[in-house]
Amino acid sequence: MSRFRLGLENIKDRYDCIVVGAGPAGLTAAIYLARFNVDTIVISKDVGGKMALAPLVDDYPGVPNVPGVRLAEQFENHVKKYGVPMIIGEAVVSIRREGDLWCVETEGGRRLCAYAVILAIGAEKRKLGVPGEDRLIGRGVSYCAVCDGMFFKDRIVAVVGGGDSALSSTLHLSTIAKKVYLIHRRETFRAMPHYIEKARKNPKIEIITNAVVTEIIGDKKVSKIKIKNVAIGEEKILDVDGIFIEIGSEPPKQFLKSIGLELDENGYIAVNPDMSTNLPGIFACGDIAGGKYKYRFEQIITAAAEGAIAAKSAYEYITKVKHT
Ligand code: NAP
Repeated sequence: MSRFRLGLENIKDRYDCIVVGAGPAGLTAAIYLARFNVDTIVISKDVGGKMALAPLVDDYPGVPNVPGVRLAEQFENHVKKYGVPMIIGEAVVSIRREGDLWCVETEGGRRLCAYAVILAIGAEKRKLGVPGEDRLIGRGVSYCAVCDGMFFKDRIVAVVGGGDSALSSTLHLSTIAKKVYLIHRRETFRAMPHYIEKARKNPKIEIITNAVVTEIIGDKKVSKIKIKNVAIGEEKILDVDGIFIEIGSEPPKQFLKSIGLELDENGYIAVNPDMSTNLPGIFACGDIAGGKYKYRFEQIITAAAEGAIAAKSAYEYITKVKHT
């Protein structure tokens, strides 16, 4: 159900700018738009995006050692300070050009239009695509260690992946579970070295490399997983109570194509250095932005920086459109 962060009475059907997404990129864009005095609304299915799922954020300057969900709250409070209305809990399902405006429709049937739209919708969690995964979601299969970790107190869990998300989830789960298997398909990890070092030193964590999960087994809930060594083909069954899948994200290509946006070879929105896209009035920032000018380094600070740039560009675009 949607929640109106500033009360239903504040929601209009026309704004100067609509920010879609409330992760670090979208919320920073909203802060800057408010400071440019642009009439703005934020629409998002959640607050914080991937930032809110991080067990601990220790690399955002000035705020060391903060749970992701707390940092997301601080971003949101900062937006609230400027009185920017937010519709939270409702995804945007279509964006269409109507005259000078871009009109956005939400899954709740709401329709709002603006001169500019900033897309900061992040990317969707990638699935493993193995038997048992879909059937056991919420019954031992999870994509969020912060949200579901406590269900596995003193239990045995597995984490799949070799990036920062997998490693930070593994370390977080090791503070709750009895044992954590970290299963990665290659020998080397792409996660930051300090995460790997910490995991290797942790007696509760068993790292299994060169292995893929081929099946998730369980009747009413997860009880085992089948893994396969990719080098020698050997299969093995591990007894686990839960499995956390942290194998990266993918952009919602169909949705982006339906808007008419130019995408890069990986399906991310091709942006110019000023975060503009091939469609005048549509800007993109954060994880969803890609293309030849993008230096992909998915951090809260880089998403926030892109949000600020997108806001400045949208402000300039809106000012121009209003005066012509
Ligand atoms: P990621 O960096 O894309 O890593 C995904 C991992 O999953 C890779 O190790 C990949 O293996 C593996 N993988 C992908 N598809 C798989 C499949 N089908 N089966 C098995 N394994 C598969 O994703 P992420 O860890 O979510 O991180 C995304 C971005 O956010 C990164 O830029 C990361 O640095 C950033 N981030 C930063 C922090 C932080 O603490 N600063 C925390 C979280 C995320 P390969 O390595 O073999 O490709």
